[in-house]
Parts: sequence; structure tokens; C-alpha cells
Amino acid sequence: MTLVVEHLAELTGFRDRDLLDVMLVSTLRDLLRPVSVGIYRVVGDARQQHWLTRARIGEHDTAPAADPLWSELEDLPALHDCPERERCLREERPIERAPAAPGEAVRLHFPIVTEHEAAGVLEVETSAPMPDEQRRTTAGILRIYRNFQSLLDYSERDTLTGLLNRKTFDECFLRLAVEAANGERTRAQGGGRRIDGAAFVHLAVIDIDHFKRVNDLHGHLIGDEVLLLLSRQLRACFRFYDHLFRFGGEEFVVLVRCASPQAAPEVFERMRATVAACVFPRVGQVTVSVGMSALRSGDTPGAAFERADKALYWAKQHGRNRVADFEALVAAGELSEAARTGDVELF
Ligand code: GH3
Ligand code: MG
Ligand code: MG
Repeated sequence: MTLVVEHLAELTGFRDRDLLDVMLVSTLRDLLRPVSVGIYRVVGDARQQHWLTRARIGEHDTAPAADPLWSELEDLPALHDCPERERCLREERPIERAPAAPGEAVRLHFPIVTEHEAAGVLEVETSAPMPDEQRRTTAGILRIYRNFQSLLDYSERDTLTGLLNRKTFDECFLRLAVEAANGERTRAQGGGRRIDGAAFVHLAVIDIDHFKRVNDLHGHLIGDEVLLLLSRQLRACFRFYDHLFRFGGEEFVVLVRCASPQAAPEVFERMRATVAACVFPRVGQVTVSVGMSALRSGDTPGAAFERADKALYWAKQHGRNRVADFEALVAAGELSEAARTGDVELF
């Protein structure tokens, strides 16, 4: 009993979701002594769903292993490659698979469904069927894990859209900036060639065009519905490992990780076109303007946001419904690198 309580205290001692998954499998490994225990989440869109290993530990491992967060979908097992996990999610109940041959492990799956995180399963492999008491302990720990995730969601997500809120932006930015800097080093060592795993991170600010008109013509409730539908569309335009924030009002920020710097403008242009082609109920067409900028070494969240915001301002001044790339505009002499100083330009 004391051991369980100690593990629970540890499990809920961090606010980091990656760490939370690592702690969950480590806790269950220590308590159940299984052959292995892992958390797998469904990533990708409805047409192409795959299993991402969030954390998995075997009986002889010293630490859990996980898929890199920026794994390409094609490299991950497809949903139907693991039919028991799929069935456990579909039926939303624990599923046990008896060993098909002597010496094979018993596999037990528990569904993990939280409001905003991708659905997933906990998979426990044991050498003998799990006793009832251990099953109840596992199910109880999973309930605590889900409750804790709901609390994290409450503090880190926007209530209307479920996207990350502004408060979580700085921390997320700094984590990605380190990754981008590592990518920079990898590229320099490789003589500028593209190297797998090297990251190019871009920040974009997305602002709805003439949104005041939507509210004035149709009312705030319809305006909120547009924000909700648009946020879903934006989510579908980016990869599962990109980070999308609602910065307040009708302004969104996204941190996108691309394999090459040329890919980023294409990603944002595709997103802009997707939004423009959509017909929103009652409202019709809604367009967005986008300002983007590449993350630099030593960048700060404020500096990167300001560059993208300057590009956004330029897009608004030049017809709206367009993507403006800060670096390209500086190269073309349309914008300057100088930071804003005057009160008028501060946001
Ligand atoms: P622009 O193309 O220049 O961006 O024009 P705009 O009308 O979108 O202007 P701006 O971005 O400055 O205005 C934002 C408007 O969005 C103001 C407010 O009416 C509306 N708005 C902000 N937050 C919310 C919200 O949470 N719900 C709704 N319904 N409307 C909001
Ligand atoms: Mg606007
Ligand atoms: Mg705005």
C-alpha cells in the first residue's frame, strides 16, 4: 500500500505530459512486475491513423523508451497493425488476449481516453493472467492519471477551442528552440546537407480577416462557432507534433517543425487555401492572414513573435487572405529587421 501511495505521489509530481507517461509505465512496472508495459497513442488524421509509442519499459530495461515526438506517420505502425489495441479503444473496455502458444505472454489492454489528448491504450504483458486485485489497482491508477491530465488541460488549454493557451507558449517555444539549435549544429557538421532529424522550426501568427464583421452581422455566438470550427480546421492542417495555440480573440499562433526551410511557406499557404475554400455555416467564406518567421539560434519567444507579427501586419496592409514571410520581406526590402521601439508599434 505504501509503495502504491509513494508511486502516486511521484506520478502526480510533474506538470510535463511526456514525463507523466514515463512515470506511469515506471510505476506500473514496479508494482506489477510485468514482462512489459507501454502507452501507445493514436496519431494522424482520420484517413491515416498510426500508433505512437509514448513510453514502454520491459522487465530488464533500466529506463522507458519512446518514439521520437516528431516521428513521421509512415514510420509508425498503422492502427490495424495492432488489432487488440484498436478493439480496446473501439469498445472502450479492457481486452485480454490469452497466449496463442505456450510460453507467450498474456496481453492486457486498458483504454486511455481524455478530452483533448489523442486516445490511447495501456498495454501490459504478463507471463500469467493478471490477478483481479492487480487489475483493480491498474484501473485505479489509470483513473488518477486521467484526472491529473484533465487538470493539466484545464490550466494549459483554451476553454472554447481546446487549443493550447498563451500561458504555455513560452515554455513550448524554448523547448523547440533548443531542438532547432541542435538541428542547426547537425546541418553545419554535415556541410549544409539535409540530415534526417534536423529541425527547422517556424512560428506563424494567424489572424482572421474582418472578424468584427462576422460578429456584427451574425452575433457573438456565431462568431464563437466560427472560432471553434476554424480551430478544428487548423488542427487538421498541421502534424500531430506541431503546436497550435489560441493567443486570445481570433488570433492563433503555431510552431511548426519542417524537414526543410522551403517547406514552411508551403504548409502555411496550404492552410490558408484550405480555410478560404471552406464554407462556414450561416457565415460563408472566412479568410485568414498569416505572418511567419523562422526560429533563430538564441531566439526569444517575444522576438520571434514580433517578427511574425510584423509580417502579419504587412499581409493585412496588402490585401489580407495571404501568407507573408518575414525573412523574404526583409530580403525584398519591404520590412526591416529593426525591433519595434515606438509605443505605437508595440502590441
Ligand atoms: P482584421 O482583418 O484587420 O484583423 O480585422 P478584424 O475585424 O478581424 O479586426 P481585429 O483582428 O482587430 O478584431 C478582432 C475582433 O474579433 C474583435 C472582436 O469583435 C472579435 N473577437 C475577439 N475575441 C472574440 C471571441 O472570443 N469571440 C468572438 N465571437 N469574437 C471575438
Ligand atoms: Mg482579425
Ligand atoms: Mg486580431
